[in-house]
Amino acid sequence: MSKAVIAIHGGAGALSRGRLNPDAEQKYRQALSDVVSQGQKMLAQGASALDAVTEAVRLLEECPLFNAGIGSVYTRAGTHELDACVMDGATRKVGAVAGVSHIRNPVLAARKVLENSPHVLLIADGAEAFAEAQGLKRVDPACFSTPERYQQWQEARAGQQVWLDNDARAPLSEKNKFGTVGAVALDSAGNLAAATSTGGMTNKLPGRVGDSPLPGAGCYASNSSVAVSCTGTGEVFIRTLAAYDVAALVEYRQLSLQQAAQQVIMKKISDLGGSGGLIAVDRKGNVALPFNSEGMYRGVGFLGAVPQIAIYSGEDN
Ligand code: ASP
Repeated sequence: MSKAVIAIHGGAGALSRGRLNPDAEQKYRQALSDVVSQGQKMLAQGASALDAVTEAVRLLEECPLFNAGIGSVYTRAGTHELDACVMDGATRKVGAVAGVSHIRNPVLAARKVLENSPHVLLIADGAEAFAEAQGLKRVDPACFSTPERYQQWQEARAGQQVWLDNDARAPLSEKNKFGTVGAVALDSAGNLAAATSTGGMTNKLPGRVGDSPLPGAGCYASNSSVAVSCTGTGEVFIRTLAAYDVAALVEYRQLSLQQAAQQVIMKKISDLGGSGGLIAVDRKGNVALPFNSEGMYRGVGFLGAVPQIAIYSGEDN
């Protein structure tokens, strides 16, 4: 059996057992399983890791359960600003977009930046103009809205008023789960790739950019080490360069993937008060999925095996 594998996440956060009703939990598990299956199918047919992670993240963006694409959270101004990144471990080429509001699938725009621009990261209007010129359709931002996210925003705003009175420096609601999505894969040719996409954090200031579109922070892939996609308090993942730190610990300190991923989440992120997790795969097909929050939506699919889906801590995968 080939060592090719895909792992995905749908965000980490306050996901304790019993918080989701059984119907909702089943929906999340099914959605994750469907995406993992699609990734497995592509890898089995010889698709590149880059194509598999791009498609997995596109599918997660299309699913309103997650905070990326359709179902993205609201900014403090009641708008949606989406970020995404995709990185090819074979070439270390990377493409990203940040603060976009009119691109249905930011990961596809990121992929166009990777393939068809001399740049790494395009933002806002410029990113949208580029995406349109590349043939991606411009959409009305209303397509990202869902009643659940609206409700979440209302709650965050209500809490914010009180909270800001106490600490005007704390701009983000940490109460909500982080529904960012991501995928990492190893293909049959031995290449690694990673992709991450998000609506950001609920009630964020307009213009705020998190870790997700930043190579080395929320997304990283190199064939000489690992592929990583992160989710959590973006500011802390930026300050620790979390995704690259996993790669560096593997490449320079020869830690195992598991040790490196654990150290970054349980020590570096936790020490700075960050919350969240990451998914990572190395060239041998080892997979690590650590998180320091109560749960993380996650799934892994080795070729020929049943997708392993988990949400809570202590579940196998
Ligand atoms: N890391 C993302 C951000 O800070 C949020 C998330 O993971 O849900 O934008």
